[in-house]
Amino acid sequence: MAQPRSPSLRDLEYHGAFIDRHIGPNDAEIGAMLNVLGHDSLDAMTDAIVPASIRSPKALALPAAMTEVEALARIRAIADKNQVFRNFIGQGYYGTHTPNVILRNVLENPAWYTAYTPYQAEISQGRMEALINFQTMVADLTGMDISNASLLDEATAAAEAMALARRSAKAKSKVFFVSSGVHPQTIEVLRTRADGIGIEVVVGDDADAAGTDCFGVLLQYPNTFGQVNDYKALADAVHARGGLVSVATDLLALTVIASPGSWGADIVVGNSQRFGVPFGFGGPHAAYMACRDAYKRSMPGRLIGVSVDVEGKPAYRLTLQTREQHIRREKATSNICTAQVLLAVMASMYAVYHGPEGLERIARRTHRLAAILAASLRHAGATVGPDFFDTLHVVGIDAPAVHAAAAKASINLRTIDASSVGISLDETSTREDVIALAALFNAHITDIDALDGKIADALPAGLLRDTPYLQHPVFNTHHSEHELLRYLRGLADKDLALDRTMIPLGSCTMKLNATAEMIPVTWPEFANIHPLAPANQATGYKQLIDELEAMLVECTGYDSVSLQPNSGAQGEYAGLLAIREYHRSRGEGHRDVCLIPESAHGTNPASAQMCGMEVVVTRCDANGNVDVADIRAKAEKYSQRLAALMITYPSTHGVFEEDVVEICDVVHQHGGQVYTDGANMNALVGVARPGKWGSDVSHLNLHKTFCIPHGGGGPGVGPCAVKSHLAPFLPRAFGEEGKGGMVSAASFGSASILPISWMYITLMGTSGLRKATQVALLNANYIAKRLEAHYDTLYTGRNGLVAHECILDLRPLKDATGIGAEDVAKRLIDFGFHAPTLSFPVAGTLMVEPTESESQHELDRFIDAMIQIRDEIRAVEEGKLDREDNPLKHAPHTATQVTASEWKHAYPRELAAFPLESLRQQKYWSPVARVDNVYGDKNVFCSCVPLEAFKGEIEAFSEPNVA
Ligand SMILES: *Cc1c(COP(=O)(O)O)cnc(C)c1O
Repeated sequence: MAQPRSPSLRDLEYHGAFIDRHIGPNDAEIGAMLNVLGHDSLDAMTDAIVPASIRSPKALALPAAMTEVEALARIRAIADKNQVFRNFIGQGYYGTHTPNVILRNVLENPAWYTAYTPYQAEISQGRMEALINFQTMVADLTGMDISNASLLDEATAAAEAMALARRSAKAKSKVFFVSSGVHPQTIEVLRTRADGIGIEVVVGDDADAAGTDCFGVLLQYPNTFGQVNDYKALADAVHARGGLVSVATDLLALTVIASPGSWGADIVVGNSQRFGVPFGFGGPHAAYMACRDAYKRSMPGRLIGVSVDVEGKPAYRLTLQTREQHIRREKATSNICTAQVLLAVMASMYAVYHGPEGLERIARRTHRLAAILAASLRHAGATVGPDFFDTLHVVGIDAPAVHAAAAKASINLRTIDASSVGISLDETSTREDVIALAALFNAHITDIDALDGKIADALPAGLLRDTPYLQHPVFNTHHSEHELLRYLRGLADKDLALDRTMIPLGSCTMKLNATAEMIPVTWPEFANIHPLAPANQATGYKQLIDELEAMLVECTGYDSVSLQPNSGAQGEYAGLLAIREYHRSRGEGHRDVCLIPESAHGTNPASAQMCGMEVVVTRCDANGNVDVADIRAKAEKYSQRLAALMITYPSTHGVFEEDVVEICDVVHQHGGQVYTDGANMNALVGVARPGKWGSDVSHLNLHKTFCIPHGGGGPGVGPCAVKSHLAPFLPRAFGEEGKGGMVSAASFGSASILPISWMYITLMGTSGLRKATQVALLNANYIAKRLEAHYDTLYTGRNGLVAHECILDLRPLKDATGIGAEDVAKRLIDFGFHAPTLSFPVAGTLMVEPTESESQHELDRFIDAMIQIRDEIRAVEEGKLDREDNPLKHAPHTATQVTASEWKHAYPRELAAFPLESLRQQKYWSPVARVDNVYGDKNVFCSCVPLEAFKGEIEAFSEPNVA
């Protein structure tokens, strides 16, 4: 009778399946790697690395792992709770058609979305070209000399403009005058940012601006109610007082109205969202800042410039890096780090695809629809102002009745007051929309084309655009889908992203961005919700946000989370503001000293100074650990003024400091709060929780630990997590009461990418998250161990083990051979690898963070490359390779160099191109040779390169960039 037992359905339904897809090594490999380290199990290894004093006693209270099918079905049901209405709300967000070729080949393409910030210039030429196009587009349309490569949103860009004006203006007033025609969310963020740094924001009518003593003004053009005002005289008056003129504007409108540069603007900001990037309930979208040449060296954010490579050929690189917070630290003027690169690429490609004529046609068509609607509303007795582009402020009406009728027709209008509404038209608007909108006001359009024939444009005659824009060939070539497809493919092929190789960047956690996590982002139920849509249309978003907040509370051990900050640095700022407001609420507003160890990430001191805090730097000991004695001494010294300690845990040196609990106690004893920078949470999730060991607040980087891709330098999400006593001071939502000010333009920041992190946590469940952390620790220690005989590892922690990253010290080799960390980084390109983090946190070192997602095969490939490189360095040491003319100093090698008839080097071509046999099967060729950093900073040129330059006439772009 006894039959062999068949496996049951339950056996065969493997619910943890995703965990094994996310985590690189399989269990056999994990066993083998543990063996190399001399541990029996992941738990034993974890106990050896993580101090008992911080380890969580119990597992996370999260659901068990789900399969991809199950998780997608659950999030589908959540998405279906959102209702997609036709949106005419405007207020900075407009409907747009994402060209499908861009949707699939940029937004949904890992070659673009898994790329890292282009610090390694040679392997980032494709995305930097896209960003140069973005900068050119913005500079052309705004009429400014130079533009940066994106900022987080229009409101924070306006705040950066305010800070730039403060630094640069001759006028010494502390007042910043903001027009009441500026978008209200921008005014909110300006008020937050001005508080505590000695700036007074005065909001008033345009007419009062000229008479106000101020260091600068902010105008909106067209303004938030749609009016296009002539600000020339006002700009002259502000200049006469020594103030600067900042203008928030709309790129589509600028294709038909005069650029702010033409009438006197000094700084121009805005949002490129309507160039092909969906609403996404508020973000992410690429904002921008452009300015006059005079201010370029103080401009915040990243700036792509054109330099040359060692062959003298044009090559892109990040320029003017000295402005960055990484270098300037507490003297930094902005904390911006992660920005919105992927969205900037999308917007730039929208312009490349449509070209100047296409953009103008979209703008004119949008304007025609607005003009027709305005005429019919006036005919029906409503009042609509005279000069507009796409937005009508309809006054003298029964607004509640109109909104009620609109809701019945699944239409959203902007709420303003009881007797007026706002209507913004856009690229997606149709004749049917205009007819339906008119009907809401009892205006009945019978023949819209006949009406069209009778109605004139409503653009102000004195402000029509008469200067050309987007004349560069790149905006006039790729207009067919084939052309754009191949242009995109060609650019992506120049770059190394996670779709080709591990990116072992320390502190950046370049882990898998799983396809299933990405899929919901472009669903219309998430993509097409306006951030100011009525709450009852966004109940799916509410559920998603509530659930994600609860998951993050559980992972961190804090009590409340705000998802509003749209980068890690913004999360730092929000957390420090919460600390400041907490002290103020207890009558201790004088507490203004922030202790920050010297090993901290540059955004930490930058964020502290933006809150008006004084940064006091504390020392690290010889092992790179924070010096507890120094913290104790400085906490004592500044006891009366101590506001906070900011500490990164595990430390930027890849070590779990033993004393962290004691450090928290010391700070609390002196009345301070503990801020733990959570960028390294990938070493903690499921193992230890900062909220439980004494820390008061952390930001997380969802674009590191929780799988949102880096996008080439953004988007990101930097949730701020706090203990309950700080919760009342978290950022408030737009239009809500609350003690914390808004830190981003949208209530939930970059809401449309939150599904990625929700999916990750749901797919991994309690056990998967813990295992991911443990394998992240394992992978880092495996690399450190296998490279031990070849390189020095700086700063190992307990039991000779590192945390989730390790620092390889190249300084001894540099002294002996002249080969430094940068040469190794560039040589790795010849092996098809993205370099580890170069010279941070310690100059002359490489910081390696493999993450849990890299398989043993990929780790071994990297280790083999590093060992071969060590052999090459040894050959230099032993005189077998020349000290100057060796493959390290000349890396990376391009195909052009290696195939040239003349080979000038003292080492063979084969060694240059194929240092390992395996490279003959698969080879990445760097499109440019090593890029000259100094040239690019001396000759700042930040827009599209004239084609002649590629033919050898380098001088063509060495002139200052003047529009
Ligand atoms: C990445 C990082 C930050 C900043 O995050 P952004 O999202 O780039 O603003 C802050 N601290 C540490 C330790 C980081 O690694």
